[in-house]
Order: sequence, then structure tokens, then C-alpha cells
Amino acid sequence: MSQSEIGRRSTSAPDRRAGGSGIGGVTDGTLAPAGGEALAYRIRRSDRARRVRVAVEVDGTVTVVLPRRIPEAAALAAVRELAPWIARRRAAVATTAAALAARGGRLPYLGAWLTVVGEAGRQRAHRRADVLLVPADQEQRQPAIERWYRRQAAREVAWRLDAACARAGLTYHGLTIRGQATRWASCSARGAMSFNWRLLLAPPEILDYVVWHEVCHLAVMDHSPRFWALLGEHLPGYAEPRAWLARHGASLVL
Ligand SMILES: [Zn+2]
Repeated sequence: MSQSEIGRRSTSAPDRRAGGSGIGGVTDGTLAPAGGEALAYRIRRSDRARRVRVAVEVDGTVTVVLPRRIPEAAALAAVRELAPWIARRRAAVATTAAALAARGGRLPYLGAWLTVVGEAGRQRAHRRADVLLVPADQEQRQPAIERWYRRQAAREVAWRLDAACARAGLTYHGLTIRGQATRWASCSARGAMSFNWRLLLAPPEILDYVVWHEVCHLAVMDHSPRFWALLGEHLPGYAEPRAWLARHGASLVL
């Protein structure tokens, strides 16, 4: 294994993933189990889809993508089969939506809350105490905030990596800050580190965990018992931040 990574979960059922989907006709269906809650879903026909795919959208709605020649009954069968997975995904989506709604004009930053304040003429985001000054212009705002988080990430990850490597007696080669949707961090076989800037939206112990996780990959590239034992030596309480990331990772967005 040449690369290790901490990834984020897909919102599509992995066993029903299709190669892609074209524009198709839309119909609807409902799964109404006896004694259970009815589940409405939308069916989309696709010329490009090869297999039946079920997806839970960010607003919690369920879409079934059906290849052109597959009968409509296959959608109900898929929804029925994947009902437990759909319920888990919808709960996760609702948790994320609630977390984002609760921010109310603030942004989380390593366990602190920054109040976002727009300033006319400003192009670069700048932190002043607990205030993050941002462009008043809505189109410029998001990119400016992301660039600010990326700058902080380069600094906050670098000193943590240096400290962890010094303690573990290991060396890394280069740090890249990325923003992929599906990966928190990675460590190549040559020791090149990459970290997702969105980790700065999490409490600091989450970033500490991901740093130690990748540093331990400098010694053990896989996720074998030996790897977890090494991580446990350096960070005895790693189970908690690991579980937090699995549960709240989807809410680490601007
Ligand atoms: Zn790993």
C-alpha cells in the first residue's frame, strides 16, 4: 500500500453506485412498510447508469437512479433493501443541517467561534480577536474565507507535524493543504503529507488526532493492529476524536 488516507463517507449507497447518470424522466414512489414510516423517493431514469443507484441528497430526499431498461419495480426493491442505510444517512444529513443552521453568522475555528463581519472594500479575510473580517461582497466572501482557512491550516498543521515527528523520531517530506471532499489527510510512502483545510473547522483535538494518525503512517503504512497500537502509544485517547470525525465530519463545511 503506497498511500494511506482518512476518508469521508459517500452519500451514495456503495453497493449500488452507477458509473454516471444522464438527464432522464422523473417519477416518484413511496415505500410504505407495515407499521413503519412511509419513505417517499424520486426515480430518475438514466441512459448512462449501468446499475441501480440510491442517493440521499443534502436536503434528506431520496433519489433512485434507474438504468433505462430496468423496470420501475427495481426502485422500490432497492429502497426496501437499503432502508436501514437510508435511515442512517438521513439522520446524518439532518444532524449536519442542524449544526450548520445553529452557526448563525459565525464560523467554528479550532474550537472557537468567529463572528463573520462583512467590510466594504475588503478583499482578504482577516481575523481580529473573535471577529473574522470578510469582504462585504457575497461573491468574494466564500473564496476569501476559504483562502484564510487554508493559510491558517498551513501554519496550524505544520507546527503540529513538526512537534509530533520530533516526539516520535520520524521525518516527513513536505506538506500540502488540500480541500478534497472525500479525504481528511494522507501520507505517501515517501512521507509527503497532505491535509484538508476543513479540519480547522473542527475542535483542535480532532486536528491533533489526524496529525498523529498520519505521523504514525510514517512508521506503519497500513491500518494493521500494529498501526493502532503505535497511535495508542502516542495518543491514548484517539478513539474519541476518531468517532467525532466519523459522526460530525460532514458538517465541516463553510
Ligand atoms: Zn490512516
